[in-house]
Amino acid sequence: MSDKQSRQTRAVRAAVDADQQFGAVMPPLYLTSSFSFEGYGRSRPYDYTRTANPTNDALAAALVDLEGGAGGTVTSSGMSAIHLALQLMNPGDLLVGPVDCYGGTYRLLTGCAERGLFRLELVDQTDVAAVRAALADGAQMLWVETPTNPLMRVVDLAALRDISQKAGALMAVDNTFLTPALQRPLEFGADLVVHSTTKYLNGHSDVLGGAVVAATDPLHAQMQHWSNTLGVSASPFDSFLTLRGVRSLHARMAQHEANGTALAELLARHPAVSAVHYPGLKDSPYHELAQRQQDGFGGMLSFELQGGEAAAARFLDAIRLFTLAVSLGGVESLVCHPPSMSHATYDDQALAAAGISKGLLRLSAGIEATDDLVDDVKQALDASRY
Ligand SMILES: *Cc1c(COP(=O)(O)O)cnc(C)c1O
Repeated sequence: MSDKQSRQTRAVRAAVDADQQFGAVMPPLYLTSSFSFEGYGRSRPYDYTRTANPTNDALAAALVDLEGGAGGTVTSSGMSAIHLALQLMNPGDLLVGPVDCYGGTYRLLTGCAERGLFRLELVDQTDVAAVRAALADGAQMLWVETPTNPLMRVVDLAALRDISQKAGALMAVDNTFLTPALQRPLEFGADLVVHSTTKYLNGHSDVLGGAVVAATDPLHAQMQHWSNTLGVSASPFDSFLTLRGVRSLHARMAQHEANGTALAELLARHPAVSAVHYPGLKDSPYHELAQRQQDGFGGMLSFELQGGEAAAARFLDAIRLFTLAVSLGGVESLVCHPPSMSHATYDDQALAAAGISKGLLRLSAGIEATDDLVDDVKQALDASRY
């Protein structure tokens, strides 16, 4: 595809009119576990879906094009994509990760480290000096999430790439929150980009999936090898649905962001609210950095109420249009209480280290009409005060 086309156009048109057999406008779904040999010793491009499948490859090619990578591997979930990337670690190797990452990532990293699969050091990655010091212990990989979940801290991709390169460590970035529509870590020199495609890329909350996009052919070859070996490959049906979602990614992200911005502004001026975490707000400590390395601020935000956990409970009782559920990035708005839900894998000490208070609430702004969401959050904030 032409580089001159915008990313939005390429997302819409990924694999459109590519079918050689019937000229199907949309790429066919290959629901098959295996592919025949033409004859003895004459294999075809595909043989077994765990290894590769045309529908999985169509999604992977679209993600590679959008992220600007050398190759992509689609997997059965975001966690399996992370597990796949961690195959680059050997016993004794050191991984430097963030103190405030996705709860499942935290459980996987700490669980692997406890079993001696690699050494782990978790640091606040907004503190570049602290990351540099941790990498100096001979790290093989720097694991990055930006913005972080759930506090929406933005970490400096260019600065981290600089110090990880000097330390000889690979840099892997979980780009789930922003997607390549709003942030492309490979452009900052990252080696791997990881996604939970369950979230914005599919965008309709009806698929579990993941992806690893590698910056180089040798890294991609290792991901393909381990995906096939471990069997973490995606289901073609899920890839079909996810590619369908990718076509509307840019249109959805624009509405997610419009809603996220309107909600953050409402929260920032409401007396019941003590803190709002959204890099799109001009007085956010991360606003300038986010503007520099992102193409937008996305639809995720979190906030704390003056009345703490009790007020958060009243807010959740009163809210109507935001479904109380984990996950994010779908067309429908969701609200989550991280300490008891997405980050229940954190004990009190880990919550404190990550700065997650018991009264924190996280919103995933969907693509509903902005006024409806604003009205609903306003009435729930009012109700949370009594
Ligand atoms: C959801 C999520 C994951 C895990 O993805 P699953 O598809 O649920 O396995 C990883 N990282 C981030 C940032 C996520 O939000």
